[in-house]
Amino acid sequence: MTSQLTGQLLSHEILAKYTSWRVGGVAEKMYIPSDKADLELFIAGLSKDEPIFWLGLGSNLLIRDGGLAGTVINTRGKVKQMTLVDETHVYAECGVPCAHIARFCAENNLAGAEFFAGIPGTLGGALKMNAGAFGSETWNLVEQVETQAAGAAIEKRKANDFDVDYRSVNGIDNACFLSATLKLTPAKDQKGQVLIKQLLAKRNASQPTHLPSCGSVFRNPKDDYAARLIEASNLKGYKLGGAEVSTKHANFIVNTGNATAMDIEQLISYVRDEVNKKQGVELQTEVCILGRYL
Ligand SMILES: Cc1cc2nc3c(=O)[nH]c(=O)nc-3n(C[C@H](O)[C@H](O)[C@H](O)COP(=O)(O)OP(=O)(O)OC[C@H]3O[C@@H](n4cnc5c(N)ncnc54)[C@H](O)[C@@H]3O)c2cc1C
Repeated sequence: MTSQLTGQLLSHEILAKYTSWRVGGVAEKMYIPSDKADLELFIAGLSKDEPIFWLGLGSNLLIRDGGLAGTVINTRGKVKQMTLVDETHVYAECGVPCAHIARFCAENNLAGAEFFAGIPGTLGGALKMNAGAFGSETWNLVEQVETQAAGAAIEKRKANDFDVDYRSVNGIDNACFLSATLKLTPAKDQKGQVLIKQLLAKRNASQPTHLPSCGSVFRNPKDDYAARLIEASNLKGYKLGGAEVSTKHANFIVNTGNATAMDIEQLISYVRDEVNKKQGVELQTEVCILGRYL
């Protein structure tokens, strides 16, 4: 490690502490940068062959019980500057929680980021996943991003350098999204705050927000909903170990308290097989599954 680095390097850190499902084994190494400049310095010093994994708020991850080799780079918490660039543009670093972006934009009378309010991830995770809700998605707002690959310099790239699709983005490989400049629309006083309240209320009414989950497990197939297919296969409430298909929203799997990553992964496979057998549709996972088996 370069001596100028000011972040924290941890070893054998339990990843269950960092995922919204509250499961996941140990990270061999974890780096927590002290700010964006420190993150950039750390990335520049990485060898191109080092196995690395970017961690935001861990709200779309199933990390297996055997954990992760290499280095996890944890961007939450510290890489969190956000500024108003001009009347319609906001600059945010990758560790800024999506909910903060929604609130910041609304407070500054800028419309378009309200959907971020209920997405419990960071901007970095939202860029990687093209997170979206209620008909809006992250890349609709992106004008420019800064990226950096291991051992390389920072690049400024325009949104159209990337191939963006439903919950996926190509063109980043394993580089880090360091920041984004978002373009919003001027709005009337308080309108955004009201819309945020409405969207959060809708979420609370339809999702098991009080239990550990990763949100939607499966992508919606074209012209259909994964939740509808799972419910039609009579799987709501189906349990495997400590993992359960939510009784409130069929596309959520909740950790009822003592689930392992293995329980969740086996339940995902079971649901996929049953839906395929009963509905003739092969569901694809939205959640990222990675790491070693115990
Ligand atoms: C209750 C609940 C509700 C949810 N609702 C929604 C929803 O409405 N819509 C939706 O789209 N998602 C939803 N999700 C899923 C999740 O919040 C989003 O996918 C979110 O964008 C993930 O962000 P994160 O910071 O938690 O990323 P993580 O889960 O930490 O990581 C996800 C992926 O992003 C990569 N990544 C993270 N940071 C960076 C970075 N800086 N640079 C490059 N790659 C990076 C990781 O390596 C990984 O591949 C929900 C989850 C929960 C728990």
